[in-house]
Amino acid sequence: MSQQHHHGTKELAAFIRDGMTKRTDQAFGDYFTGQNASCALGAAYEAMYRLPRDGAHPTRDLDWFFDCLDTVKACPAEGCKKKLFLAAILVHLNDDHRWSRAQIADWLEKNGNGSRPVEASPTGTVPPTRG
Ligand SMILES: [Zn+2]
Repeated sequence: MSQQHHHGTKELAAFIRDGMTKRTDQAFGDYFTGQNASCALGAAYEAMYRLPRDGAHPTRDLDWFFDCLDTVKACPAEGCKKKLFLAAILVHLNDDHRWSRAQIADWLEKNGNGSRPVEASPTGTVPPTRG
């Protein structure tokens, strides 16, 4: 059972939504703030770690999760040209663009192919680094 990456981002979105119900406020700049706030990634982590499993080490179940967080994605925010690992995108959208966790989850669901980073935009060449 290891061919799960195609639904990774959708599950991730589901975990974020689940985490949102546990902490109803959104945190910025931190995974968790106080008792009742989490950022997008914090919400996903929290929901993930509270899966009803008896094992103390959920890491094996998290493989697909980290796989999916390891995909490079283009930042979906207007005018932003960043390309980051998905985990960093979540934090970036949360902290820098102040997307709500629901918005981020929506975006994840719509970008749920998981297999291929967004790369084929017509003008999407990476600008040369300036010396
Ligand atoms: Zn951005």
